[in-house]
Amino acid sequence: MSDSTIVPAGGAPGGKASSAPLLGRAAEPTLFELSHPGRRAWSFRTSGIPEMPVDQLVSASHRRNEPVPLPEVSERDLVAHFTRLSHRQFSVDLGAYPLGSCTMKYNPKICDTVADLPGLAGVHPAAPASLTQGWLGLFVELEEALCEITGMAAATLQPAAGAAGELTGLLLMRAWHQAQGQVRHKVIIPDSSHGTNPASVTLGGFEVVTVPSDSRGCVDMDALATVLDDDVAGIMLTNPNTLGLFEEDIAAIAAAVHGVGGLLYYDGANLNAILGVVRPGDMGFDIVHMNLHKTFATPHGGGGPGAGPVAVSERLVPFLPGPRPVRVETDGSSPVYEWSTPPESIGRVHTWHGNSLVLARALAYILANGGDGLRRIAEIAVLNANWVRQRLTGTYDVPFDRPCMHETVLSVRTMKHDYGVRALDVAKRLLEEGFHSPTVYFPLIVEEALMIEPTETESPQTLEALAESLERIAREASTEESGWMAQFPRGTPVRRVDEARAARTLIPTFDARG
Ligand SMILES: *Cc1c(COP(=O)(O)O)cnc(C)c1O
Repeated sequence: MSDSTIVPAGGAPGGKASSAPLLGRAAEPTLFELSHPGRRAWSFRTSGIPEMPVDQLVSASHRRNEPVPLPEVSERDLVAHFTRLSHRQFSVDLGAYPLGSCTMKYNPKICDTVADLPGLAGVHPAAPASLTQGWLGLFVELEEALCEITGMAAATLQPAAGAAGELTGLLLMRAWHQAQGQVRHKVIIPDSSHGTNPASVTLGGFEVVTVPSDSRGCVDMDALATVLDDDVAGIMLTNPNTLGLFEEDIAAIAAAVHGVGGLLYYDGANLNAILGVVRPGDMGFDIVHMNLHKTFATPHGGGGPGAGPVAVSERLVPFLPGPRPVRVETDGSSPVYEWSTPPESIGRVHTWHGNSLVLARALAYILANGGDGLRRIAEIAVLNANWVRQRLTGTYDVPFDRPCMHETVLSVRTMKHDYGVRALDVAKRLLEEGFHSPTVYFPLIVEEALMIEPTETESPQTLEALAESLERIAREASTEESGWMAQFPRGTPVRRVDEARAARTLIPTFDARG
């Protein structure tokens, strides 16, 4: 990484030694079990202000008869308890997390420091614009940065996640067609798309039309031509697609869809491959959602909440959710910010102003990296994924043998056929090596898929260690006796879960031997 980026490649490479001891014992006591009457996790000196008797504050009918049975523990025990629990989960702070399509990159701590500033964190969301000019300025600056990155005209920062952004984008699509006096029913998505795409299309009140991928892993242009008509509201694409491949026919796709009056929606959950290199707006897209919790390194998953801003081309700006923060230029003096609702707004998609502290983190990340730093992120992310693909070709099946973008899809098809070892076994075995598992069984069109996204935050040493682990696993598949893989992972607090039962009964059951 260049000096101008704040996410240097680095971190300890994963390896055998790092997994088991860190992940703790099988059964931690609960805070209730640690409770000891009279222990307190706080101590305050008396203030000198006489205490108001509780019965003067709350009437007897509203008071409890008994104290709430909360755990009573010392601060030391409390901190130890939660620190131990935090180590029972693999995290981006602990090691490489090559979870394809999810962009689990390291989250720089400077962004948390910014979000903790009392002038940001302590502001009530209902505070008027006159008292929150700094916050409004931050929103406007982030919106402008995201529009510059995507090549779009304006953006809403309200959506709380990628899927929420997708629904927002589809509602924008509907509103735009309605304003043209049209009701259109169909939205096209490729068969390699992320699962949220068909779900959002359905939730948005449209009908899903799927187009297959061709042998190169791209949209089959002949199949696309057969489904295009004037009932098509638009197409949802991600480029690079979820096979990690760049849609080379994107200009032809854009022309064909625009040709029947449809709009182009870009699923930009993962912009890692294209940051500072190409822009969806320049490819002809009308609507783009971004996952700040992926590309822009804000906490993700259990560490959420996320943010899924949606950027649009000029003709869709009047329909954006409102109210939106806008800059009012005053002659000579510094700008003034205010809230404004677009004339044909689809309305709110989030209370208040979206997940604002996530937005603050993303802006800190963008500014700290700068334009050249963002481009460097894309270059290293693509380089890392191609390094992994190249290194493991021959050891694993590579269904689409061409340069990939920020992630690469491998397959365990041959290994399963020859030795009965499945993608799930490889993923579980890898946990034992100190790496998080890659995405498995996605994209759905690749048999026994292993989808690896190393991200730009991993060093060559970490990638080397990951490749060595995957090679070791492939050797074991051919040399160890059958069924040997089923014992893994051994060092994690939870070992193999019964997936079918977990999905059917929704009661956690797991094998915690060891
Ligand atoms: C993660 C992802 C989504 C969904 O984003 P959420 O924030 O999880 O709702 C959509 N599309 C793609 C391609 C993704 O990788």
